[in-house]
Amino acid sequence: MGIELSTPARLAPLIERPPTVATLCSHSSLQIFHGARVEGLASLGISVGPPQKFYDAFPLGRPDSFLTVPKVKEIGRHAARLRSEGAILVPHGSFVEYLGPEAFMELDVPVFGNRAVIGWESDREKERVWLESAGVQMPKRFADPSEVDGPVIVKYYGAKGGKGFFLAKNRHALDDFHSNDPHVIQEYVLGTRYYVHFFYSPLSDRGYRVGHGSLELLGMDRRDEANIDELYKLGSQEELLRAGIRPTFVVTGNVPVVLRESLLPKIFDVGARIVERSIELFGGMVGPFCVEGIMTEELEFKVFEISTRIVAGTNLFINGSSYSDLVAPQLSMGRRIAQEIKWARSEGRLAEVVS
Ligand code: ATP
Repeated sequence: MGIELSTPARLAPLIERPPTVATLCSHSSLQIFHGARVEGLASLGISVGPPQKFYDAFPLGRPDSFLTVPKVKEIGRHAARLRSEGAILVPHGSFVEYLGPEAFMELDVPVFGNRAVIGWESDREKERVWLESAGVQMPKRFADPSEVDGPVIVKYYGAKGGKGFFLAKNRHALDDFHSNDPHVIQEYVLGTRYYVHFFYSPLSDRGYRVGHGSLELLGMDRRDEANIDELYKLGSQEELLRAGIRPTFVVTGNVPVVLRESLLPKIFDVGARIVERSIELFGGMVGPFCVEGIMTEELEFKVFEISTRIVAGTNLFINGSSYSDLVAPQLSMGRRIAQEIKWARSEGRLAEVVS
């Protein structure tokens, strides 16, 4: 089963003219434009206000052209022009977040991947249904503080960068906890975090087969998160709370990591389950996705989140990673996206990877 194409008309320009890889100037755009350039595709940067000067500093990451818009929300107004330029929009974290998931799904411009995935990923409840029904282990959830049986993390919906998340060591630490804001109380998983960068190709018939295509592992990172990563240096949680200092999880950077080789089967199994279930639920996820989880000392991998698009941690690997080097030399995620577009077009299968 492939992507269901509700509006084939928007793909029509791509049959007549070569595609242009387009994305919002932010997040992983340098990598995406660089990947397009390496694969010989044109690129277009959508810039809110005049393009940032730093693009001039990176000639190999600068897009061939810019479309300047006054506000992100106005991108939809330029749909006709984007279509006429053969644009295929590449979603990344900032693009979807700034525009809003609903507005992104409604854009009348071809999008790389299956846009239906955004509805499943942007809703924490639906995401849990997807992952749990795929047989993926997730942190336990507690409906009420009285059920808590160990350390927990309280997450507020829409808390940007984990600001306002609350950590409690046990049930008693939640005695005074009450909140009317929507939140979940989740097991705090002790272990080591891994953010695993996968690419699913429905076109490929070689490699690690999943569904009708194949699953590629292109890299792995760990996020630097302020202030939690350095908080322990100041003393115990209780002392910090008394001083009015609360943990936050604002991503400030990324570091490369590799996993014990013996754990790779586990990680591939998780990736494959997520893809297989996506095919059953909504016609399948296509292209980059990131599985974000914690490996415990019992070597169980508990997934607390997935991102169904290119993540900023892939920016570490513009020249390849310890994993992508074993797939092909100098293969970044941005380049892999451009390859998939090229191959799909040359085989007349664009509708399977673009929606
Ligand atoms: P973003 O959307 O920016 O990725 P978010 O607001 O959706 O963040 P999460 O990704 O769920 O929040 O969590 C943010 C951080 O909190 C994680 O990167 C991780 O460090 C920590 N974290 C999340 N869930 C757990 C958990 N169950 N146990 C331990 N740590 C966790």
